[in-house]
Amino acid sequence: MIYILQGHELKHAAEEMLFHLLPTQTLSRGPSVPEDGDYCLSSLIERDGAVTVRAETRLDGVTRYSVQQAPVDGLDALSRKRADTELVKLTIYESVVPALRQAPVWGALTGVRPAKLARGLIERGMSRGETAQHLRGHFFVSPARAALAIRAATTAIELDRRIGPQDVSLYVGIPFCPSRCYYCSFVSSTTAQSGHLIEPYLDALCQEIEETAALLREAGKRVQSVYIGGGTPTTLSETQLARLLDVLSRAFDFSALCEYTVEAGRPDTITRGKLRTLRTAGVGRVSINPQSMDDQVLAQIGRKHSADDVLRAFAQAREAGFGIVNMDVIAGLSGDSADSFARTVERLIELSPENITVHTLAIKRGADLTDKAAASAQRQTVSAMLDSANNALQMAGYGPYYLYRQKFTAGGFENVGWCKADTACFYNVAMMEELQTILSLGAGGVSKRVDRGTGWIERFNNPKYPLEYIRAGDRLTAGKRKLLLPAP
Ligand code: SF4
Repeated sequence: MIYILQGHELKHAAEEMLFHLLPTQTLSRGPSVPEDGDYCLSSLIERDGAVTVRAETRLDGVTRYSVQQAPVDGLDALSRKRADTELVKLTIYESVVPALRQAPVWGALTGVRPAKLARGLIERGMSRGETAQHLRGHFFVSPARAALAIRAATTAIELDRRIGPQDVSLYVGIPFCPSRCYYCSFVSSTTAQSGHLIEPYLDALCQEIEETAALLREAGKRVQSVYIGGGTPTTLSETQLARLLDVLSRAFDFSALCEYTVEAGRPDTITRGKLRTLRTAGVGRVSINPQSMDDQVLAQIGRKHSADDVLRAFAQAREAGFGIVNMDVIAGLSGDSADSFARTVERLIELSPENITVHTLAIKRGADLTDKAAASAQRQTVSAMLDSANNALQMAGYGPYYLYRQKFTAGGFENVGWCKADTACFYNVAMMEELQTILSLGAGGVSKRVDRGTGWIERFNNPKYPLEYIRAGDRLTAGKRKLLLPAP
């Protein structure tokens, strides 16, 4: 499809909305409306302190229009850009949606953090009912998704009250896994490829830990939660894990810690010894991620474990004394069906972990979408999987506590963390809702300094890959110093 912009250059907004609605279309920008074929013309005119934004879309020979106006007098540059972006997206949405068989569940929202938007509305004085109405009426969000966003926003508002000006959280990344899952979108190397890098990586990480701890002391900050993720941190041997946890607890003051999580994602990396090591170091929450409880699906996606291995790892975690266990599943895996996914969710509910996180497999643009019919069928299957999981989890007493969406994925579905009462993962909410400063250590880490007064966020990226990280040296601490102790 050709898209044309007139009177504005909000290319990203236009492309994002068109991809959201028409993921199987290949988009290209054109100079003018073509004589034949599909197109979308988005135009903006400013006159007498107001903007008029218009979209004209021709799909399969039918042309539809949408127009929106808004006053813009007195807006600063950032607010003005936001207002223009919203109108461009909304008008494109309104001109395209009548041509679709089914409107997207998140309506015209394309952002990663719908709960943050809901929280902003509630904090500006809207009741929860008014917020739901606004999400539905203004952004065309489905009632079920508006309810999800509001429940996640409510948890964020509650947890936000616990955060003091001196509190930060820590993320520690271990980008190694025993083998690679076929759907993996993380930076993670297999031990076969990069096992020789684990020791030098740990040396560099321990150095970064010591230097970051010194920075935190200088800045008068304290650690509120720790999350060790990856990759699969339990790929480390028992001795390596013990070293990492020991360096962390010696370097940082953990006296105010409210939560300590380690991802033990792959059951094939979990042993009684490693679980004991984690417990001894004060880790209270582990994540054991089956992704599916169907052995055929597990084999198809390249996991080297069975559903029985998940049951064994879960029982061992309980034996070791873990009071909070999270389990991740993914809707839309290759070879899975709506029925077998529903059975996976049922089996997890029977185990009764405190947290269950339901992810959606990202169907990215490009190769995954070349077969339009298959892509559309896949979206419908994922939609059915998510609906059945949401119902089953709510019936079993779980509530949604955090959610996020992935950019540029077909269907625009969400990933949702579900929890039993009072077991919401503080780190997940703080990170996803950008409630507090989070320092990320290790390869691929993105540290964010959050100004809690203004909401302003500054970032510092660690190198993406283990080898680059090992070679980065003092540069990382210098970057974190700028975040934590900006020059006056
Ligand atoms: S366990 Fe996670 S990080 Fe590791 S390969 Fe599989 S999806 Fe990627």
